[in-house]
Amino acid sequence: MSSDVQKASSGGCLHPKVTRERTDLNRMVTAPKTGKCYCRGRLLGKGGFARCYEMTDLSSKRIYAVKVIPHSRVSKPHQKEKIEKEIELHKSLSNKHIVKFYHNFEDDENIYIFLEHCSHKSLAHILKARRTLTEPEVRYYLRQIILGLKYLHVRDILHRDLKLGNFFVNENMEVKVGDFGLATKLLPVDQRKRTICGTPNYLAPEVLNKQGHGPEADIWSLGCVMYTMLSGRPPFETSDLKDTYRCIRAVEYSMPSSFSAAAKDLVSSILKKNPEQRPTLDAIMHHDFFTKGFIPDALHPSSCLMVPELNI
Ligand code: ADP
Repeated sequence: MSSDVQKASSGGCLHPKVTRERTDLNRMVTAPKTGKCYCRGRLLGKGGFARCYEMTDLSSKRIYAVKVIPHSRVSKPHQKEKIEKEIELHKSLSNKHIVKFYHNFEDDENIYIFLEHCSHKSLAHILKARRTLTEPEVRYYLRQIILGLKYLHVRDILHRDLKLGNFFVNENMEVKVGDFGLATKLLPVDQRKRTICGTPNYLAPEVLNKQGHGPEADIWSLGCVMYTMLSGRPPFETSDLKDTYRCIRAVEYSMPSSFSAAAKDLVSSILKKNPEQRPTLDAIMHHDFFTKGFIPDALHPSSCLMVPELNI
């Protein structure tokens, strides 16, 4: 008997006499404590440590997005600590605009993290297909991202890696902030870590200058996200990373003429070198870009591929 068969049988999923294809067995996962069986479906994406799969609970038929992290990928203590920190932090969160954390367990091979399934993947996938988004769509997505981020900031949690690939979209086209791999509790200025983390294009000048990450650095990233959704490219993108860093430090970017006056004003008010001069999340929501423009109540899934027809 192969080790796969032994593992699946001991987990209680299969009658010992039932023989199945090896490929089928490889797709079964049993939670050690509850004995619940899950069947692995399509690959949703690959991350730093993890592969993310659709997984179906065979008893309830409920579908989850499950991060599968092989123990071999997190064998060093600091890697394991990082995953444990992400799990503890994510577990404590509960909000409509935060990817829901269900449960986690491990077997001999992997760590499994069960998350809310977002069938439309992320805004990065949507933007890739659409190239740019319209201003009403940007208001629709950004409003929900801001609600999720507000939930974190009032609890003194910084996300520190806000980017399109971390905004997940569920079946109903609702947006959920996810991936808490770099998230941390806000510390007083003198105790903040000075290490650079996050995606280079969206790093705030003060983070690049090793002055630590405060809530204002998340707001900066949000400004970069807004710019990227409207124009199809990040504001400080160049072919050379050093040049990107120089542009960020100098806040040197071009404002596309296609942006409305309100969008131009909001982007330039967020992308301020001095963190204290950036607007708060509430101020952003009260800006003309949101209050004077149409915000759809819902978006049709076809808008993942095509410009939606909105009844403005
Ligand atoms: P990393 O943490 O390295 O950014 P993740 O492991 O969080 O990567 O995610 C890898 C990929 O899996 C993502 O790019 C996304 O496509 C997919 N993914 C992650 N979480 C979900 C989810 N809740 N629903 C749907 N797809 C997801």
